[in-house]
Amino acid sequence: MPEGDTIWRTAAALRRGIAGKVVSDARPTAIARLKGRRVESVEPNGKHLLMRFEGGIALHSHMRMTGSWHLYRPGERWRQPAWRATAVLSFHDVVAVCFAAPVMELVRDAQAPVAHLGPDILVDPFDLDAVIERAHRSEALTLGELLLEQRVCAGIGNIYKCEALWALELNAWMRPADLDDDRLRRLYLTARDLMRRNIVTPIARQHHAVHGRGGRPCPRCGTPIKTRVQGQQARLTYFCPHCQDEPAGKAVRLE
Ligand SMILES: [Zn+2]
Repeated sequence: MPEGDTIWRTAAALRRGIAGKVVSDARPTAIARLKGRRVESVEPNGKHLLMRFEGGIALHSHMRMTGSWHLYRPGERWRQPAWRATAVLSFHDVVAVCFAAPVMELVRDAQAPVAHLGPDILVDPFDLDAVIERAHRSEALTLGELLLEQRVCAGIGNIYKCEALWALELNAWMRPADLDDDRLRRLYLTARDLMRRNIVTPIARQHHAVHGRGGRPCPRCGTPIKTRVQGQQARLTYFCPHCQDEPAGKAVRLE
């Protein structure tokens, strides 16, 4: 699943490839109005990507679990079948293709699709006070679910949820109200540090402490890492049962 740092990489690559250039063709017909317009900017916002065009129009895409933008030279073979393309923007020297994005829409007000989001975890300066205030208003039942709530803080996905909780030895099933503000602040700052570090690390060299490592030893204590489904969205949480404790009470029966 693309997380905030992946969207940042994507936006940076698109910016290098197409910013300032004029669209020579745009498909499907729902976005054909982009033809002849110049790309003004490409901006990541949490897990959303906003491409602004001259004339005050923007293309909003949300990658969710499946979407990805690719850049190709004209005539180059695509890495996914054409039927999976949800947007194809052609320029004189490059083609930008988005595959399998569940949200792809033209919007007049570029801020509208992202107005509900909390502060972006990767933006400078990071508005941590606003995140904590939003966290207090959240109805998330557990810390794991709180971290994924994009209305509280935009950009954290399942990987950095697991990694940040492990880094601070916090139980993902803990009630957010049981964590004091100092530790809550440290939790968001830890997720931010981990994600910012990964923006500059090649994907092949990235490794995680717990995410994707079920059954393998915890880097801190050697206990085998466990996985358990968490929350209404049934996201898989990786955790060390020694450093972070087992889920307590009712959470255990969710399995
Ligand atoms: Zn451990």
